[in-house]
Amino acid sequence: MSATAIPTAASVADAVARLSPEGRAFIDGAYVDALSGETFDCVSPIDGSVIAQVAACDQADVDRAVKGARAAFEKGAWSKASPAKRKHTLIRFAELIREHADELALLETIDMGKPIADSRQIDIPGAAKTINFYGECADKVSDEIAPTDPSAVAMVVREPLGVIGAVVPWNFPLLMAAWKLGPALATGNSVVLKPAEQSPLTAIRIAQLAVDAGIPAGVLQVVPGFGETAGQAIGLHMDVDMVAFTGSTEVGKYFMRYSGESNLKRVSLECGGKTPHIILPDYPDLDKAAEAVAWGIFFNQGEVCNAGSRLLVHEGIRDDFIARVAKVAQGIQPGNPLDQGTKMGAMVDATQMERVLGYIEAGKADGATVAMGGSRVMQDTGGCFIEPTIFADVTNDMKIAQEEIFGPVLSAITFSEVDEAVRIANDTVYGLAGALWTRDVSTAHKVARDIKAGVVWVNCFDAGDITTPFGGFKQSGFGRDKSMHAMEKYTDLKLIWLQLD
Ligand code: NAP
Ligand code: MG
Repeated sequence: MSATAIPTAASVADAVARLSPEGRAFIDGAYVDALSGETFDCVSPIDGSVIAQVAACDQADVDRAVKGARAAFEKGAWSKASPAKRKHTLIRFAELIREHADELALLETIDMGKPIADSRQIDIPGAAKTINFYGECADKVSDEIAPTDPSAVAMVVREPLGVIGAVVPWNFPLLMAAWKLGPALATGNSVVLKPAEQSPLTAIRIAQLAVDAGIPAGVLQVVPGFGETAGQAIGLHMDVDMVAFTGSTEVGKYFMRYSGESNLKRVSLECGGKTPHIILPDYPDLDKAAEAVAWGIFFNQGEVCNAGSRLLVHEGIRDDFIARVAKVAQGIQPGNPLDQGTKMGAMVDATQMERVLGYIEAGKADGATVAMGGSRVMQDTGGCFIEPTIFADVTNDMKIAQEEIFGPVLSAITFSEVDEAVRIANDTVYGLAGALWTRDVSTAHKVARDIKAGVVWVNCFDAGDITTPFGGFKQSGFGRDKSMHAMEKYTDLKLIWLQLD
């Protein structure tokens, strides 16, 4: 397979035969079974088949991984390595991810059901780029000397925290892990990574690549398992210094509690969202906006934390605009994720599919109108597929407007004045992202300031770069991934006051 080609597999079984997915934990530089010997089935949502047996790590395994991570941290081969050495090693790690991109992309797709073209062109290159970026950052950050009286030298230095627990979701399995690993490792920490139970395979695979790149054994440990066991054990562990979490707001709150009940470990949370996507009638190219609205909710099967799930459209253009969005959505129908041309894949598992179908029923029961879709499709495959769904006549108090669906469901709400649009946009517990389309620069600036969210896009959607911070306001969490700002949360400030005689 060439570097740019999209890997092909005739079926999930064919991919499994070629990849032989590893399902064991990775601790202290080697693949190991859970101490209990327990495993669980890793199921592909493409056809419902079992693709690997995965180690069901629990508290004992987490404890073992944390002890190894702590020992590696204290030994200092990574934590006290020169920043230049960490830089070169992380850049090598990123290169190895790129060299294994075809394999990793196929693994990601059979594990969580996203289209193979997305895995190959977005997730895996994005993960490599992230690790590479933080490698580059490792030796670009200097400490400070404070402007004190000249009788002292007051050095304000940043030190790694120690052992980081990284707990990540299933929607962008490797990419979300990389957002944590990059800055945590670049600043010298050890990491214990728990991937989501639905999608553990790429995290398990790259642990070996990290060691191959020269990251010392113990610095990156991977403990697959369930949230209630492995995840909770990380949250409650007395020797984990910080948890970097991406997932639901509900579980994010658990991590705050775990911290309070244990060692007051630092917590950073990237949680859910209910992004408002505002269309003002003055924007001249409504087809362009409709294209962005459709992809903004249907990309990755709608399993995106910042998905533009609430369309706030001016009442004067409502029917015309929804028709334009539906036209684009016709071209984003689910298909076999292993086919190169597929644009929408499978929901991650049967549970998530049922959850989304439940929200569709709730929308109907609350009086919203199905303008498009609304059903499970491709049942004969044994997979978990839902068609792009658009609800019209939604009011912001409905369940489908308030709760995060995490599926391909768009809720269209109308407004008449800009102020009203802003009020509706902010009438949510979430604050991850927002977007608006207008040609008026004053309105653009004012609304962007008024939306309470960590990112606001103007005349685009989901634009970003590894150099820009990402994260939420309100119950979407706190702390930022991406950009050099992300490095701050994996370090603590220390003042060294040196009095001159
Ligand atoms: P989730 O259920 O909150 O799970 C996230 C992680 O937490 C998984 O590894 C999970 O393990 C673990 N976990 C679950 N219950 C736990 C518990 N009681 N104690 C400790 N750990 C526990 O979220 P998800 O369903 O995987 O992902 C979807 C959510 O992630 C959505 O809400 C989405 O908005 C959010 N998300 C946010 C961002 C962002 O950057 N803001 C990005 C992507 C996704 P198991 O898998 O074993 O349950
Ligand atoms: Mg899976």
